[in-house]
Amino acid sequence: MLYKSTRSQKGPFYNSADVIKQGLAEDGGLFVPEKIPSLSEKEIRELCRDDYPTRAAKILAKFLTDYAYEELLEDCKEAYNPASFVGGAAPLVALDETRNVLELWHGPTAAFKDMALQIMPRLLSRALKKTGEHRTALILVATSGDTGKAALEGYRDVPGVKIMVFYPVDGVSRVQKLQMATQLGENVNVAAIKGNFDDAQNGVKAIFGDEELAKELDGMGYFFSSANSINWGRLAPQIVYYVSAYCDLVNAKKCKIGDSFNVCVPTGNFGNIFAAFLAKKMGLPIDRMICASNKNNILTDFLRTGTYDRNRQFYLTMSPSMDILISSNLERLLYFTAGPAKTAEYMAELKATGKYTVEASVMNEIRRHFVGYYADEEATAAIIKETYEKYHYLSDTHTGVGLSAASQYLAETGDDRPLVIDSTASPYKFAKDVYFAVTGKEAPSALEALSLLSDATGTKIPYPLAGLESRKVRFESVVEKDAMKEAVLSYLKGE
Ligand SMILES: *Cc1c(COP(=O)(O)O)cnc(C)c1O
Repeated sequence: MLYKSTRSQKGPFYNSADVIKQGLAEDGGLFVPEKIPSLSEKEIRELCRDDYPTRAAKILAKFLTDYAYEELLEDCKEAYNPASFVGGAAPLVALDETRNVLELWHGPTAAFKDMALQIMPRLLSRALKKTGEHRTALILVATSGDTGKAALEGYRDVPGVKIMVFYPVDGVSRVQKLQMATQLGENVNVAAIKGNFDDAQNGVKAIFGDEELAKELDGMGYFFSSANSINWGRLAPQIVYYVSAYCDLVNAKKCKIGDSFNVCVPTGNFGNIFAAFLAKKMGLPIDRMICASNKNNILTDFLRTGTYDRNRQFYLTMSPSMDILISSNLERLLYFTAGPAKTAEYMAELKATGKYTVEASVMNEIRRHFVGYYADEEATAAIIKETYEKYHYLSDTHTGVGLSAASQYLAETGDDRPLVIDSTASPYKFAKDVYFAVTGKEAPSALEALSLLSDATGTKIPYPLAGLESRKVRFESVVEKDAMKEAVLSYLKGE
């Protein structure tokens, strides 16, 4: 299996190890597999009997053909081990006859980014060996909170890799700050910067583009690599849980092999929902993919009108991981529905004017698979409360957006197929807003909201968030926003 850019007709073609190491194609496009492997009913039947790590290794083996199955199985067993994923890697919880919640947040940072970031560093570490790389990969991350912690936890003590994370000093919650400042591991570093998230992001981009620095690092035995969500190494592991959820529906006798089902995905960068599309292309019988957005409903508008227009107001919401106006992974869907030439045109238009409109034929194809709904802040809070009261099920704010979209879809269509709704974060990760939605009361602080929510609902604080206050703070440095490069260098020199 070879990979190429979304923006090129022919090649160049790459192995998956190169693609995971490199992240982005030279022409600015994203890497895609040259063809989609198939998944037969017979294979699905076998997967139904497997545990999650085995399901993951079998699916990944179809895409990462330059990795041995035994390598993948070993990595998947370590990544999704029961000590890291307490309560299972991706358990499916039934709410009623139709609705099933796929909990993707049982990992070490209590958010769904763990599903990819626990396995991708292991794949990168092997990629370094496979490509004969002698240098150490230096992962730089700018974060507004969640990705930074998930990346730190994923890359911690992975051989051949170091990671440094920058976050805006006043731009993350106290819980998020504590999570990062207390990070364990010998190959990790964290710095706050005096600036906002854009400053952190721009600083990291400038460092990536600094050729002189790259040379200096090369001399010291390092090269840059990225952990962001457009890397194929983050996307491929997300295909697995859709297949796994279907197996669990079959095992629970909610459907028979071959029967179709629907999925609903709280969406930001379009990575998670695009993985569902790939699963469908492989042969998993998904009928509808419901794309759930918050008040930043650019994708809902796109799916309804065919125009993607980022020239609009940006809102900060209580589902911050979905506060996005450029859904990068949408480019991969455009590639599979409109082809590389059109994709390159759309992306050039987006860059020049902030918008593009796709042809009716392309839109018809996209609408055969996708439908979009959104939930504003009031609707999100209301469904969290309703879901708790009706099913005694506590959901986070991002999952709330998904639950609202799912209800809108069901009310509109009456579709009675099993529906899998992705739950992308533990309710405790956003405890203050969840506590308010459920009880109508304001918690005095985000930290206190954890125990208040636990007391009010009789549910348990997940291990990654319990006892945060008593952990040892290891990283306290705050740097000027134009001193990030120096911070990287002094970290590598061990100063
Ligand atoms: C990243 C994230 C999302 C959005 O996922 P995409 O793959 O970017 O669409 C949704 N919810 C949570 C909690 C996230 O961290």
